Amino acid sequence: PTPPPLPPAVKIELPEVQHVIAIASGKGGVGKSLTALNLALAFQKLGKKTGLLDADIYGPSLPKMMGLGGKPKTDDQKRLIPPIKFGLQCMSMGFFVPEDMPMIWRGPMIQTAVLQLTRDVAWKDLDILVVDLPPGTGDTQLTLIQKVPLAGVVIVSTPQDLALIDARKGLHMFQKLHIPILGIIENMSYFSCPACHHRSEIFHHGGAHEEARKLGIPFLGEIPLTIDLRRASDEGLPLIESDPHHPLSEIFLGMAKQL
Ligand code: ADP
Repeated sequence: PTPPPLPPAVKIELPEVQHVIAIASGKGGVGKSLTALNLALAFQKLGKKTGLLDADIYGPSLPKMMGLGGKPKTDDQKRLIPPIKFGLQCMSMGFFVPEDMPMIWRGPMIQTAVLQLTRDVAWKDLDILVVDLPPGTGDTQLTLIQKVPLAGVVIVSTPQDLALIDARKGLHMFQKLHIPILGIIENMSYFSCPACHHRSEIFHHGGAHEEARKLGIPFLGEIPLTIDLRRASDEGLPLIESDPHHPLSEIFLGMAKQL
């Protein structure tokens, strides 16, 4: 069904931000946050001043993935000063609530929080702000679509049918609301055994590529399931930082170049 028409959007102004790119997925656990972080770092490596906004109010993951903590300070206009790590200006709800504290909030509070984390932040001279959306098609997505001038959205999916069905749902929401789809990324495309180099296609393979072809949307590439990526993200030291010439880092750089 077509969603009810949204009231005329009064978009917020982000004078210090040139382009806002959202990273979305139909469901959780497909590697959207990992992709958002690595794409943001890849933009940075390509010479673009980049920010990363973790817009997942209920399940922020940026502080852990970046090894960042503590409440941001405010400037004399009461705007939050984004902490900088690996050169990225960062903002996340996770800076304000302890890791094990659930957010028991209703929709309107989520909208307010999302806007505060986007608009009331002293971003400085950004070429690109990468927004890591929560999974699915909820309040945060609608608030951002309605209120934030988005250049477009990148969809992350695993090759599994179920993930693809959910990804398609998300994709249709953005299409119906006239947000350009910049491309699809397939994560966990295959597993390459570090011991014997055998390649296993644990969640099938190529589903997202095929989906992109059918929908006439750019396919930005595949990311394998690897221990290196999992370890790096759990340890708060992204691979692209510790080893920018690693083949996995090259994958993210290649994707960022296409955007
Ligand atoms: P989402 O944002 O979609 O919920 P995350 O980015 O938080 O997913 O990823 C979920 C978990 O899977 C994290 O522990 C992350 O490190 C791991 N992960 C994601 N992609 C990969 C990958 N390609 N290889 C190894 N681990 C991955």
